[in-house]
Amino acid sequence: MTTNNPNPCPVCKLEGQEVIREADYGERITYNCARCGKFTITRTAEHMAEKRNLGPKLSAWIRNRFELGMDIPEISTNSLTEIEQSLPDYNPSDKQQFFLQSIARKSKYPGDSVSLLPEFDYPLAWASASEELLFYIRYLIERGLLARTDDEETQAFGDMSVSVEVAADGWEYLDQHEQRAVELSQAFVAMSFSESMKMVWEKAIKPAINEAGYKAYRVDAELHIDRIDAKIIAEIKKSLFVVADVTEQKRGVYFEAGYAIGIGLPVIWCVRKDDLTNVHFDTRQYNHVVWESTQELKETLYDVICAVIGRKHKI
Ligand SMILES: [Zn+2]
Repeated sequence: MTTNNPNPCPVCKLEGQEVIREADYGERITYNCARCGKFTITRTAEHMAEKRNLGPKLSAWIRNRFELGMDIPEISTNSLTEIEQSLPDYNPSDKQQFFLQSIARKSKYPGDSVSLLPEFDYPLAWASASEELLFYIRYLIERGLLARTDDEETQAFGDMSVSVEVAADGWEYLDQHEQRAVELSQAFVAMSFSESMKMVWEKAIKPAINEAGYKAYRVDAELHIDRIDAKIIAEIKKSLFVVADVTEQKRGVYFEAGYAIGIGLPVIWCVRKDDLTNVHFDTRQYNHVVWESTQELKETLYDVICAVIGRKHKI
């Protein structure tokens, strides 16, 4: 039964009728928030999220999955830790691009006007507040990528609603810039190419990524002589996230994962249990999927991808 809920959204603190508690299973509650979208969260994860002040980023993460029509995320204490570590700090230029992309997605055709309520829609730009979103809108208009479609004379900017359309230059900009992040479906796999790891790729990493709805990409073993070339960099840039299995401690794997972190991609680290103590000091701070069998790796990696990146519907 759907009931209006006097309690605020546990993620963004929005109150009132815009937050609906759709289902309450005791320990797990499903919310439908006008700002975050739909999600299920456990009570313990709720407390954890509050303490860590993940608010705006978590809100944006949930909302963008919702906008893309992905499965409703289930946020537990475990997945929250994974999500927290994977949330990149987007810079203002990334945020503008994501926002422009989401307006383009909402447009039924070029020239279609999209109406926004900054108070509820700021997560579309991974922003922390409506003021930040309005700043990006203003800047995108200045850059000629976005245009206002409401009456500038009668309506003060940001007063309740704003109507915009993607300008001609905006469509061109989106065409030219590879649509990184949210809309991509490739997962780049960085791992050792030794004979013993072949089965790990075939039986664990590749199927786990595929089952979550993504395309697993690994460069050809022959090409990969532990050196980084332009092809590898280009493939990482084309990916939504990276799975880095550091078993056997290859330098190239660390480099590729480090490069991915540098450009803001989430990296899921994995390592075989007997090699855990050898993990490079700088990356020990990250959570690793620690595995003993290919079956175990496949199952755990699948769960982590679903929690951190989200399961993608097959197209
Ligand atoms: Zn919310």
